[in-house]
Amino acid sequence: QKPKAKPAQAASVDTKGITVKKDDDLGEWYQQMLSKGQFISYYDVSGCYILEPASYAIWEEIKTWFDAQIKTLGVRNCYYPIFISEDNLQKEKDHIEGFAAEVAWVTHGGKSKLDKPIAIRPTSETAMYHDFHNKIQSHRDLPLKRNQWNNVVRWEFRNPMPFIRSREFLWQEGHTAHLTEEEAGKEVLQILDYYTGVYEELLAVPVVKGRKTVNEQFPGAYYTTTIEGFIPGTGRGIQAATSHCLGQHFAKMYDITVEDPNAKKDSGEAPSKLHVWQNSWGLTTRSIGVMMLIHGDDKGAVIPPRVAEIQAIIIPVGVTAKASEADKAALYGTVKDIADKLRAAGVRVDTDLREHYNAGWKFNDWELRGVPLRIEFGPKDMAKGVIATARRDTGEKSTIKIDDVAEGVPKLLETMQAEMLARARKEYDEHRKSITLWDEILPALNGKNVVLIPHCLGGDCADAIKDETAALQKAAGAQEDARAPSMGAKSLCIPFEQPELAAGTKCLRPACGQDAQKWVQFGRSY
Ligand code: AMP
Repeated sequence: QKPKAKPAQAASVDTKGITVKKDDDLGEWYQQMLSKGQFISYYDVSGCYILEPASYAIWEEIKTWFDAQIKTLGVRNCYYPIFISEDNLQKEKDHIEGFAAEVAWVTHGGKSKLDKPIAIRPTSETAMYHDFHNKIQSHRDLPLKRNQWNNVVRWEFRNPMPFIRSREFLWQEGHTAHLTEEEAGKEVLQILDYYTGVYEELLAVPVVKGRKTVNEQFPGAYYTTTIEGFIPGTGRGIQAATSHCLGQHFAKMYDITVEDPNAKKDSGEAPSKLHVWQNSWGLTTRSIGVMMLIHGDDKGAVIPPRVAEIQAIIIPVGVTAKASEADKAALYGTVKDIADKLRAAGVRVDTDLREHYNAGWKFNDWELRGVPLRIEFGPKDMAKGVIATARRDTGEKSTIKIDDVAEGVPKLLETMQAEMLARARKEYDEHRKSITLWDEILPALNGKNVVLIPHCLGGDCADAIKDETAALQKAAGAQEDARAPSMGAKSLCIPFEQPELAAGTKCLRPACGQDAQKWVQFGRSY
C-alpha cells in the first residue's frame, strides 16, 4: 500500500486501464484507481496528495449537506489560525500526550530560528478554547456553537494512504460549549446521526454507531462516540468519524466558567461558578477513501450518484465515418436537447463529443472515472425515440423514452444509490461475526471479518487483546511491519445496538476473568 513517489511534474494523465485486480492487490489497485481515474495526483512531500476536481467535488457535496444540517442546530462557521503556541497546546495534559508524536512544528521564519517553536494544528481544541474563555462570560453566552472547514496536519509515521491516512487532511471540526452535560450529550448523538447520514445517505457506506472503549477515546475526552466502517477487501475496520463529549476537562484548564443561572439570588452566598460542558466533532476526507475502497471495481471507481461530480455521461454511438454531416448534426442536436432536459431536471450531466476517440474507448474512460450512469445515443435510438442506459455499479442496461428522461434518469440514479448501500450493508453484516470462544478470534480475523465479543470494557484488557491477537498471528508465521496497520485486533466500538448478553457471561479474553459488560466490536483496522 505504499504510494509511488511520483514527482509532481510527472502528473500527466494516464488513461490506460487499471493493470491489477482489486482482489489480487488492493493497495496497488487503490493507487491506480485514484490516479488513473483522476481523483488524486502525487506530490513530492510524503503523505500529501493533490485532490483533483473529481474528488474535491465529492468533498463539496459532503460539505454542502453537512453544513446545512449543523446550521439547523445553530452552529456558525468561523476560522481560527493554523498555528498554535506551544504554551496553549500543552495546557491540557492528556490531550498533548495523545498528539505529541504527530505534531509538526515551525521552528524557523526564513533564516532566523524562532524563540519558541509554533505548532501546526493537529486539531483545534487548544487553538480555540483560550478564546472561548474570553467569549463565554455569562450563561447567556451559551450555548456557543462553532465549526470550521479547514486543514489539519498530523505527522503520521505509518504508511500513508491517500484520503485514508494522510499527513495533511481536510475536515470540519465542530466545537461547542453548553451549560449542562445533558445538553452536550444530546448534541454529541445528533452529530453522530449526521455523520451516519454523510456515510449512508451520500456515500452509500454502511456504518456501525457506538462508543469508544476508554483506551481508544480522544485524548482529553470525557467519552467518544464513533461510527465504524468496514473495508471488505482487507477485512479491516475503519474509524469513519468521531463525536466527542469533552466533559469539563478543557473548561477547567482554560477556565471557561459561567455563574450558575439556577443559584438562589438572595442567599447571600457568592454565586457558584460552573465549568461549561464541551463537545468537539470531526469528519475528514477519509470518508472519500472509504467510499472508493468499498465501491470501486476492477474497471475503476464507482461513485454513488448523490456525490458524483458528473452523474450521467451521454456518449453518441453508431456514428460511422460514412454518416452525412446532416445526420450527425441531427444526432448531436438531440444529444444536446437530452442533456438540457436532464440538467433542468437537476441531473449533473455531461456529453462526450470528442471525435478523436471511439465509443469503446470513451466507455472505458468514464468507467474508470466512476460516472454512475452512461447514456448511449445513436441513430437507432433516435429512430425509436429512446436513450440506452448502462449502470456503472451493476453494468445493467435499459432504455428510457426521450420524453420520460426528466423523471426516468433521476429515478434510476436513486435506485442505484439505494442498491449500492444495500449491497455494502449486506457485505458488512456478513463479515461481522459474533464470537464467544477465544480460539475463534484469529480464524475469524484471518477470514477478513471484524468480531463482536463479550468484553469487560477494561481499557488494559482491550489493549491486551490487541497484543495477544498480534502475538497469535506472529506465532502462526506472520511478520509485523511497524509502518503498516496492525495485525492485532483493536477495540473499535461498543455498538449502541447490542445483542442480548446472557447474565454471567465472562470477558472473552481468558486471562481477564471479569464479567462481560457489553458486546464490543474488535477488528484489525486502518
Ligand atoms: P480525531 O480528531 O482524532 O477524533 O479524528 C477525527 C477523525 O479523523 C477520525 O475519526 C478519522 O476518521 C479521521 N482521521 C484521523 N486521522 C486521519 C488521517 N491521518 N487522515 C485522514 N483522516 C484521519
